[in-house]
Amino acid sequence: MAFATDPVQDIKERLPVESLIGEYLVLKRAGINLKGLCPFHQEKTPSFMVSPERRSWHCFGCSKGGDIFSFIMEIEGLEFREALQLLARKAGVELPERQFDRKKAGRAARLVEVNTVAMAFFEQALLADADPQGKQSSAAAAARDELTRRKVDQLTRETFHVGFAPSGTDAAGPDASGRNQSGRGSWSALTDYLRKKGFTDSEMVAAGVAVARPAPRQGVYDRFRNRLTFPLIDVVGRTVGFSARALDPEEKMGKYINSPESEVYHKGKFLFALNAAKSEIRRRNFVVLVEGQMDAVSSHRVGVRNVVATSGTALTTDQLALLKRYTTNLILAFDVDAAGSNATKRGIDLAIVQGFNVKVARMPEGVDPDDLCRDNPKAWAEALNHSEAIVEHYIRKATAGKDLSVVEVKKAVARVVLPEIARLTDVVEQTHYLQRVAGLLGVEESVLRTAIERTPKQSGGQKTESNASESEPQKPRPVDSLLRKVARLIALKLRGVVISPEDIAPLRVLDAAWVTRVHELLLAEQAEQPLFEQLGTISPDLARLVDHETFALDQELEHSEETPGKELSGLVREIVRQGLRRELAELHKASAQSGSAEQFVKKTQALAKLEEQA
Ligand code: ZN
Repeated sequence: MAFATDPVQDIKERLPVESLIGEYLVLKRAGINLKGLCPFHQEKTPSFMVSPERRSWHCFGCSKGGDIFSFIMEIEGLEFREALQLLARKAGVELPERQFDRKKAGRAARLVEVNTVAMAFFEQALLADADPQGKQSSAAAAARDELTRRKVDQLTRETFHVGFAPSGTDAAGPDASGRNQSGRGSWSALTDYLRKKGFTDSEMVAAGVAVARPAPRQGVYDRFRNRLTFPLIDVVGRTVGFSARALDPEEKMGKYINSPESEVYHKGKFLFALNAAKSEIRRRNFVVLVEGQMDAVSSHRVGVRNVVATSGTALTTDQLALLKRYTTNLILAFDVDAAGSNATKRGIDLAIVQGFNVKVARMPEGVDPDDLCRDNPKAWAEALNHSEAIVEHYIRKATAGKDLSVVEVKKAVARVVLPEIARLTDVVEQTHYLQRVAGLLGVEESVLRTAIERTPKQSGGQKTESNASESEPQKPRPVDSLLRKVARLIALKLRGVVISPEDIAPLRVLDAAWVTRVHELLLAEQAEQPLFEQLGTISPDLARLVDHETFALDQELEHSEETPGKELSGLVREIVRQGLRRELAELHKASAQSGSAEQFVKKTQALAKLEEQA
């Protein structure tokens, strides 16, 4: 029924499949459909199809397909419920209480809510002009001054939801630890507010915005105080935590404090600013990795928006998997040679063996992207333009200022550089660097090649594993060949082939339950949309197959001058033949017990007649 409020249908109507998918990949018209490069497997020629009329998508390369919900689940790594909530928000569709009852909402959703309300509170606090007590205003003003000094303009503040965590207005110390004797606040500005909003202390602690007072005292206090707050917003736009920067340069708790890991925030799976950067990353087909949140914020401010921050942690497999949805080209804009940073090195190695093309930005010594963006934005763009391949970088670092004629130096350089070359997954690239190093060191290339063949590849096993799972298209599920032919028949009808009662009369000999329904559908004079939608009520499997067959037919028609439908009579005959065989096999089994010989004979004769014609 058209007016029934099915939120799923409602959302599908409001969010055209082509515009939703178009946010993730470039789609080009291909007849009645649209076509693009599949985001779910590696390919160079597009086999990913989108049908605006059926509100569906299908990839002929990896056989994935479905509607906008399955697309979002697949590309954002969400459960159906999460996809439903995300798309409902996007479409401005309100989900009925039954499906999104606040009290019943999963705990994760609740923790996101705590963080979201805290984010709004901090943003408001940053704007606070004057506090009744006149204390907070000076702190908020100091926070605003700091942002201005860092050139974080209004638009950037809004984009990243930058805020200010006050320390509270009550001068009473919060606990017996003696850490708050300076009378700088009650440490409860946020927690008081959240409590009024109906959140419990344990929810605040679980969400990471509050800290439980040490026993035997009870209650909680604000984790973030007198700090600038940068919310940690995940790839689908959920606020999962905060990174907070101290305003007081003397702050003993450290320049930055971050939310602890929680049910919704996992440090190793998170990349700061990815949500804001993802479409630009896809568009430019590379991502810039910076270390600090300020680096990312400043870069976005000066218009370089394909930038995310690792927040100082080494790259993890999960983070790389996240980035791989958008690009396999990385530019690292931090000190990759930082002394003693083995973790950083491991992260980079991981990216290389996973097939990422890794480059290093050419930054002036001792300068971070935030500095560059503030003092000389052009130099930032330049540093990225002049980035060098990671192996090139290692070679340059290893050889700079060295006398390459000294054999000990040659050996030392080879020791550093060869393992890097060995790690490269591309043979051409590997040969390129071998030749280059051979030239530099005055050594035969073949000698170096022998050396790298002996080098055990670090994490080499992972390489083949991940390559196998990602580049090899998934095997399609085995499909019932009879049902597929029925689907083809319906696809022909969808594409305007006129089907007469005589054409499909032979189907009547079959007893299968779907026959009557399909028969009716094929003869009905209806617009395409309702016909396709009715399929789902016969069998979701059939609906999926018809979708697939229609995409296939569209592709054939695109490359052919012929009018579709020549196969019609042959197709019907084949359906009847396979259907009869199947029913006979069933009857054969059944007739052993009950003597339904009459049916058996009738069907055998019909089949014999068909086999003659074929
Ligand atoms: Zn695919």
